[in-house]
Amino acid sequence: MSEATANLPDGFVEEVEARVGGRGFTTDPAEIEAHVTDFWRQIRGRSPLVLRPATTAEVAALMALCHRHRVPVVPQGGNTGLVGGGVPDESGRQVVLSLARLTRIRSVDREGETLTAEAGCVLADIQAAAREAGRYFPLSLGAEGSCRIGGNLATNAGGINVLRYGMARQLVLGLEVVLADGRVWDGLRALRKDNTGFDLKQLFIGSEGALGVITAAVLRLFPLPREIQTVWLAVPSPEAALALFARFRDALGELISSFELISGGGVAIALKNLEGVTAPLSGDHPWYVLAEVAWTFADGLEVLLEPVLEGAIEADLVLDGTLAQSEAQRQMLWAIRERQSEAMAPEGMVVRNDVSVPLDRIPLLLARAKELFERTIPGVRVLPFGHIGDGNLHYNLLQPPGMERAAFLAMKYGIQEGLCDIVAELGGSISAEHGIGRLKQGELARRKDPLELLLMREIKQALDPSGILNPGVIV
Ligand SMILES: Cc1cc2nc3c(=O)[nH]c(=O)nc-3n(C[C@H](O)[C@H](O)[C@H](O)COP(=O)(O)OP(=O)(O)OC[C@H]3O[C@@H](n4cnc5c(N)ncnc54)[C@H](O)[C@@H]3O)c2cc1C
Repeated sequence: MSEATANLPDGFVEEVEARVGGRGFTTDPAEIEAHVTDFWRQIRGRSPLVLRPATTAEVAALMALCHRHRVPVVPQGGNTGLVGGGVPDESGRQVVLSLARLTRIRSVDREGETLTAEAGCVLADIQAAAREAGRYFPLSLGAEGSCRIGGNLATNAGGINVLRYGMARQLVLGLEVVLADGRVWDGLRALRKDNTGFDLKQLFIGSEGALGVITAAVLRLFPLPREIQTVWLAVPSPEAALALFARFRDALGELISSFELISGGGVAIALKNLEGVTAPLSGDHPWYVLAEVAWTFADGLEVLLEPVLEGAIEADLVLDGTLAQSEAQRQMLWAIRERQSEAMAPEGMVVRNDVSVPLDRIPLLLARAKELFERTIPGVRVLPFGHIGDGNLHYNLLQPPGMERAAFLAMKYGIQEGLCDIVAELGGSISAEHGIGRLKQGELARRKDPLELLLMREIKQALDPSGILNPGVIV
């Protein structure tokens, strides 16, 4: 037995092998490495073992085994989560349960507008399968090439189409879940209406692997949009962006799928560091909006969009703008927005946060947080961006030139606390879409209503009485 597996009960690895065979697990430190470090390589844990089941039955057998031996389990999908919920802690006792081999799309029903997928399907593959069937699966985020649907549902992911289609929880009709003790709940129903008691699937969605292991889901599909118009607009201020959003809502209503805000500094860094990206507009502007409208008709949307843009220019809400003329140009505009964090990485260490406030308080949040961080961390670069139409900002701070990376990273929790204080004063949420994970567990314990916390703990106790599922995450 290696030093690492010495943390496991005697004979545990042999019992794992008897259930799932040699392909179903690894104790090789080189293979384990990618599972114990987060996407941005800021969080690192330890684990003696990664479980790699290929079917729901294998997940169930492994969970029953872990339950019997009280071995703590960290479910993991694509490991793109941003709050450390999918990586083990530093104890070296937690095993990772990777769902990456459950990759079957079990069925696509074009008429019923549903798709049933296993938890390990990569989000982009699900989007493609829906498209092939002439339907649309609207969940879309920067990590869609590597995040997996089980992870998306476990985090209740948001992304760029929430305005029109809702968060991940609005896109699910049914779930299959393996419970902490290995029992399988088959809730794979494809019903839009089902008022038969508590909606259990919603309990597991957004529970970050702390209540059960999602193994499959029935997802909702939608008609495929035929015409999409994408606009890139320079705006003078966040207030102007919000006034523009109100005009878009008045004129275009639910045709708006995305309405994103990006700081001028963030755009400049994207133009500098991302390959194949060119400036959409001439000159530098303080803020930019990237908005998208779409419908199922083949054309005519531009005619609806034009008067809204003309009116906004006349009212000085828009300084300059451009409409994507091709799919390639549309993709480039989205790259500037979706690859913001990636573009910042070569400039130094980035401390990321994800918060939301009521829509009208976004300018206040931006002003107060900028004042706080520029005053307390001289030279810090404040580069927020996000889904402003949802009241959601990704609040990124870039290491000041000259400061050590480790010194800036050590400020992470202080920065988080300062930002969460402002968010709380403004009636917002300390996590809009990334979740709580390990990073925000302390903030949640401090700020959540005590009764809500108690109810969460009671639910956790009922579903995972021995506390083996993702200990240290959420509650
Ligand atoms: C570049 C980039 C852009 C991003 N943009 C967005 C965005 O716009 N919106 C957004 O919401 N998020 C975004 N994220 C965060 C991340 O992609 C999402 O949280 C995603 O849903 C995580 O999926 P995953 O498969 O990688 O999950 P993981 O990181 O593997 O896991 C996340 C959590 O879910 C749990 N989990 C995973 N699989 C299961 C399962 N099958 N059953 C039970 N629990 C499970 C884990 O234990 C962990 O707590 C972004 C991340 C990156 C790197």
